[in-house]
Amino acid sequence: MDYDKFFRSKLDQIRQEGRYRYFTDLKRDAGHFPQANRISDDARSSTVTVWCSNDYLGMGQHPDVIKAMHEVIDECGSGAGGTRNISGTNHYHVLLEEELADLHQQESALLFTSGYVSNWATLSTLAATLPGCVVLSDEGNHASMIEGIRQSNCEKIIFRHNDPHDLKNKISKIDPEKPKLIAFESVYSMEGDISPIKEICDVADEFNALTYLDEVHAVGMYGPRGGGISEREGLTHRISVIEGTLGKAFGVIGGYITGSANLIDYVRSFASGFIFTTALPPATAAASIASIRHLKNSRTERELQKVNVQKVRDALDERQIPHFATEGHIIPVMVCDAELCKKMSDELLDRFNIYIQPINYPTVPRGTERLRITPTPLHTDSTIKDLVHALDTLWQEYGLQRTDQFSNRIRLAI
Ligand SMILES: *Cc1c(COP(=O)(O)O)cnc(C)c1O
Repeated sequence: MDYDKFFRSKLDQIRQEGRYRYFTDLKRDAGHFPQANRISDDARSSTVTVWCSNDYLGMGQHPDVIKAMHEVIDECGSGAGGTRNISGTNHYHVLLEEELADLHQQESALLFTSGYVSNWATLSTLAATLPGCVVLSDEGNHASMIEGIRQSNCEKIIFRHNDPHDLKNKISKIDPEKPKLIAFESVYSMEGDISPIKEICDVADEFNALTYLDEVHAVGMYGPRGGGISEREGLTHRISVIEGTLGKAFGVIGGYITGSANLIDYVRSFASGFIFTTALPPATAAASIASIRHLKNSRTERELQKVNVQKVRDALDERQIPHFATEGHIIPVMVCDAELCKKMSDELLDRFNIYIQPINYPTVPRGTERLRITPTPLHTDSTIKDLVHALDTLWQEYGLQRTDQFSNRIRLAI
């Protein structure tokens, strides 16, 4: 086989479909987020405003977070030096797990190297080892959950997105003796819509199912202490596993699960993706502790962010630029064409120094390509004005559809 030819032809294919992934080469500028330096092909740099970061609250440059990371690098050095079992458990991991259990009002927590790994390792372990387990999975679930469930080889049933009635209908047909696990998210990352956690928990209770909730896009962001939607709605005690990331609103790196002491101990003892990998650097664990503690006590970032989200939504509405009107903090501006979506992103970057990565298939369904905008507390009124002006200009030049021409079509497409 001509391997290289094979790789090239597959790459050509995704290029033709307009979904080849080009990375934007940036240097984040601590102290000036959401500004960053963009390195272009000719190695020149320019300042851009980032509008698509998952560092939702700018905690990646928070003085407490940076200070903790510096101090613990000096104290403990760079890496953890081993897996958790073989010399790699650092005291900062232990403190961070206590902090996370407290954040979600659960008995225990367990750290992983990323949110992806935490979903993949936990779901694959639970679903593969609970005898005869059936997983009920929301159709909008993240790739990391889907991969974990797939890896387990268990029976999998997909229920309609955020639809407890469909879930109930499907779960009621499963043998009552079989273990069941319902996997879903609180804030879905591509639309920003929020799931009916209580109703899903009601179904889980009725049919004695475990509940697994991905709060990746909600931790640090919602609830009085940043404990996510489950905290905001007073439902933490009804969820078997709350999963989250330290890499998005907390601004660092790593993933975790929280739950009952026995469930967490079980995953700690049986999950390959936890056991056989080097622990996170102590300094990033310490930085995460600082970030979580700050957001437990300070609501300023969350409140300012909400204000900015509303300002962007209002300004888009004023210009009739189509976007999803969901409750959450994510604003998907709909282009609905892979090539045009990439083109809009290039034009924003090259002409307006605005960086918004295009989101194409397979991250979202074909025909629903979008620019996913994430306002932070650190975007100013003038950057909002620039953003909406740039979008309006491009919408005009390219004759893209405005809200009034659009809403029905997009509702059908999703
Ligand atoms: C980003 C994401 C993850 C993975 O978290 P990382 O810490 O980035 O690996 C998991 N679930 C959802 C819904 C995500 O969007």
